[in-house]
Amino acid sequence: MKEIVCIVCPNGCALNVEQNGETMTVSGNKCKRGEEFAVTEMTKPMRTICSTVKTNRADIPVLPVRVSADIPKDKIFAVMNEINGVTVTEPLRRGDIVIKNVLGLGVDVIATSDVLSINQGEMI
Ligand code: SF4
Repeated sequence: MKEIVCIVCPNGCALNVEQNGETMTVSGNKCKRGEEFAVTEMTKPMRTICSTVKTNRADIPVLPVRVSADIPKDKIFAVMNEINGVTVTEPLRRGDIVIKNVLGLGVDVIATSDVLSINQGEMI
């Protein structure tokens, strides 16, 4: 029996996962998403990343970014290294790709803000 906390929604249900061979039984979940989370967590845990990248603008030194889809949990630090190595020099908009197919995972790192489309010296 393994105990894990569901992180799909703020309820944070305490899940119990019992594995008998190929069969997994999940309890403690208030909805189906919790069962799906528990099975994925036991077989191939996935996570999202929200972070920032550096820019070359003194007035807006960082740009918020996120991954376009969940990535394997064990790739978080490697992807963060890629994100930390980027300096944006173009006026990207929300949804624009900052790193395409990061580490070959089939996931992009994308901008989540239009802040760089503001001209230098302009008020937000
Ligand atoms: S099991 Fe359902 S209700 Fe409970 S935390 Fe997960 S998603 Fe939320």
